[in-house]
Amino acid sequence: MRKALIPALVFFLCLFLALPALAKKVPTALDLLAMFPVREPPLAADPANDPLIRLVNRWNTLPSSFKPRVYRPGVKIRKNAEADLTLPAAAALEKLFEGAKAQGLTLIAVSGYRSWQSQKYIYARSVERKGEAQASMMSAQAGASEHQLGLAVDLSCASLECELSSAFAKKKEGKWVAAHCAEYGFIIRYKQEWVDVTGYQGEPWHLRYVGPEHALAIAAMDVPLEIYIDYLKVLWQQGLPVPGQ
Ligand SMILES: [Zn+2]
Repeated sequence: MRKALIPALVFFLCLFLALPALAKKVPTALDLLAMFPVREPPLAADPANDPLIRLVNRWNTLPSSFKPRVYRPGVKIRKNAEADLTLPAAAALEKLFEGAKAQGLTLIAVSGYRSWQSQKYIYARSVERKGEAQASMMSAQAGASEHQLGLAVDLSCASLECELSSAFAKKKEGKWVAAHCAEYGFIIRYKQEWVDVTGYQGEPWHLRYVGPEHALAIAAMDVPLEIYIDYLKVLWQQGLPVPGQ
C-alpha cells in the first residue's frame, strides 16, 4: 500500500510543480490556429512581404543601409530627444496621444527612429556599463533594433520624469496605453512572459506600429509578434482564410 502511495505522491507533486510552467507557455502558431477559428476572405499577400510586420530581433537584423524616410510627429517629446517615425506610425502616434489627452493623460515620446550607427553606439555604451551578458538582454545590437524601422517608439510620462521604466506599466498613462494602443495600430512588443521568444526583457514603454488590423489581432491573441507572424505564415502556406480580414 505504502509502496504504491509514494510514486503516486511523486507524480502529483511533479504535476503540481509543472502546472504554473504549463499555464505560462506562450502559444505556438498551431495553438493559435486551434484557438481562433478562421474566417473569409483568405490572406491576399504573403505576410513575409508586409512591411508593417517586418520582423526585427536579435536573429533577424537590418542592414546598415536600411534608412526609412521619417518625420517628427506633432506630439510632446522629451527635451533634447528625437522621436521621428515613418509617416503612418507618426500619424498614428498623434492620434494615440490625442486619445490619451481626451482621458486627461499626457504621454511623452522619448525615442523613435534610431539609425544603425546610433544603435551601435548605444549598445557599446550599454556593454561598457553593464557587461555583455546584461547588455544583450536589455539593448539591441546594431541592426537588431526595431527602432531602425521607424516603427517603434518609447513612451514615458511626467511622474516618471520622462525616464523609460518598467514602472510605466503601473502608471495610469501606461495602463491606458496597454489597454488602447492596439486601436491606434500599436502593440506592446516586449512582455516579460515572452522573453524566451522575443529575446528581450519586458518593456512596457516600447510600442511597435503594425497597423490597427494586425495590432487588434495580436492584442486579442496576446502573443509576441514572432508567433503572430509564424501563424500568418502557416495560414498563407496552407491557403487558409485569415481571421478578422
Ligand atoms: Zn524602444
